[in-house]
Amino acid sequence: MNVLVVGGAGYIGSHCVRQLTAAGHHPVVVDNLVFGHRAAVAEDVAFYSVNLGNESEIGKILRKEKIELVMHFAAYAYVGESVTDPLKYYFNNLASTLHLLRCMLGSGVKKFVFSSTCATYGIPSQVPITEDFPQAPINPYGQTKLDVENALKSFATAYGLSFASLRYFNAAGAAEDGSIGEDHKPETHLIPLGIDAATGRGPALNVFGNDYPTPDGTCRRDYVHVDDLSRAHIAVFDQLAVPGAQHFYNLGTGTPTSVLEVIRAIEKVTGKKVPHTIAPRRAGDPPALYADSTKAQRELGWVIKFPDIESIVATAWKWHESHPHGFGK
Ligand code: UDP
Repeated sequence: MNVLVVGGAGYIGSHCVRQLTAAGHHPVVVDNLVFGHRAAVAEDVAFYSVNLGNESEIGKILRKEKIELVMHFAAYAYVGESVTDPLKYYFNNLASTLHLLRCMLGSGVKKFVFSSTCATYGIPSQVPITEDFPQAPINPYGQTKLDVENALKSFATAYGLSFASLRYFNAAGAAEDGSIGEDHKPETHLIPLGIDAATGRGPALNVFGNDYPTPDGTCRRDYVHVDDLSRAHIAVFDQLAVPGAQHFYNLGTGTPTSVLEVIRAIEKVTGKKVPHTIAPRRAGDPPALYADSTKAQRELGWVIKFPDIESIVATAWKWHESHPHGFGK
């Protein structure tokens, strides 16, 4: 299938492009390179540096490349920034996505795979989280993702758009061969910051709170390998054959891992200590977030290849060790 990957030079998008190629599909990348890296996409993949809200240019690409399905990864994803600068998030994550969707519908492209997030659930009343939990985001980032989900539901009913909204938990790890991986500027995620602390490239890690109601007092999250996530995007294609199909899937391993357990995994994999200090809680961090992803496993035949934190961290380490400056050098 000819697949337009919007945000295909970003962290999850670039891994998905490789998985598409490996599965025999034909990916075409659109990325404005604000956060993406040209080097994360193979030279022989068609690449357009265009904003997703640019309807005339996106329309030309859809027609020229005979696109049948669009995957949309391009979004701002700094939760704290979404609170201090919500306009940026509503314009990029919501308004630009509406331009993309209008352009697709106008060009007759009616299959869509959307990067959504567990942040749409806000603070769940219990865990693990299933897809039918109430969605009550606690920040503009999660709200904009939920707004797009709601728009998609209406578009499916009104225009016959078929879509899958994939609600990611904590994307982590890197390509198994270590050739591409996570390179955010600024970096805020636990695993890359922990690896930087271990190698001395970064400061000691701040552990945001150790007085949560969890077994070791630190927050528990559901770390899911970026290639496992990517494979779910492809496994969902069959679900989109029927016009107007609407699908929602949680993508996580279902195993909660605490901040201290992540630190121990990094120490085991790298053979180095992770210097860390206990810091105050970070605003908006729920004590525990993890998925019940049995729906994706049952309906998509989604198989989790990296079910444990050590195997995920091992791939991240392979990337960071071989690319100490990310895609920079
Ligand atoms: N975390 C931490 N120190 C850091 C970064 C993250 O203790 O420097 C914690 C954070 O509070 C959360 C977990 O690690 O409980 C995962 O955070 P991350 O930012 O990687 O992902 P999020 O869960 O916010 O999407």
